[in-house]
Amino acid sequence: MHFQWYPGHMTKAKRMMQENIKLIDLVIELVDARVPMSSRNPEIDELGKNKARLILLNKSDLAEDRWNDAWAEYFKAKGFSVVKVNSKKGGGIKSIQGVIQEACKEKIERDRKRGILNRPVRAMVVGIPNVGKSTFINALAGKACTKTGNKPGVTKGKQWIRLNKNVELLDTPGILWPKFEDQTVGLRLAFIGSIKDEILQKEELALDMIGFLQKNYAGVLAEKYGIDESGDAFTCLKNIAESRHCLVRGNELDTDKAAMLFIDDFRNGRLGKLTLEFPQDYD
Ligand code: GDP
Repeated sequence: MHFQWYPGHMTKAKRMMQENIKLIDLVIELVDARVPMSSRNPEIDELGKNKARLILLNKSDLAEDRWNDAWAEYFKAKGFSVVKVNSKKGGGIKSIQGVIQEACKEKIERDRKRGILNRPVRAMVVGIPNVGKSTFINALAGKACTKTGNKPGVTKGKQWIRLNKNVELLDTPGILWPKFEDQTVGLRLAFIGSIKDEILQKEELALDMIGFLQKNYAGVLAEKYGIDESGDAFTCLKNIAESRHCLVRGNELDTDKAAMLFIDDFRNGRLGKLTLEFPQDYD
């Protein structure tokens, strides 16, 4: 999904979020498990204050398991409920309904004391582009869902998906804008495809990732491409171009093409499970 953010978009997204958030008890925030901090927009904490909060480490299949666990602990220590999920394959989805009840137990208790019984918990999925919001909603709602509203001829109102007698989910996710003041965060958002590649040169992106892998995942490049990965990042990229026969005009190495191929390999998990940021680097 490629969509650029301008001030007008941000204002509109924020306004919609403020409207929808009034209707709900629980914010289900999706982040990309490979970059759990960079794929958040911290304004959600202000928007979602006084709501129950659940963070889903989505695409957990693409990140390293020990770091998924470390990140889950990190967010739990800050008071969030957390679940590792793979929305594409359905991993972790079954536990969600139980976790929702647990995350909302204070609200359910408050209702009970006021004599309100069986009012379903209302939840909404939020996250920046490409973290897997639609995939998650489909995985959670599955086929069993019964939508409310949506009568022909009637202005389309809010659509709620009834997950069970206790939980209703807003059918459209809240889109948070990707936020980056800092170049490192911008690069990470480009790696995961949440911001348009053209903003940054593909080659610059690839060189940064190569440097990161050399430092944190020694051996991955050598193994994947059958190359010597010991040189500087640009030499490595040329080696990838050579090993993958990326050539222009017959014999010159095409490093742009190699960069594209390499970024694509990363995005699709073909370099293995990789986590790009680590909890110890935050507070
Ligand atoms: P949205 O923009 O947040 O609604 O994201 P989408 O639901 O459109 O998903 C973006 C891409 O990520 C799609 O290609 C999905 O198939 C993929 N995707 C979503 N969830 C997962 C996941 O848990 N694991 C993997 N490997 N891919 C996922």
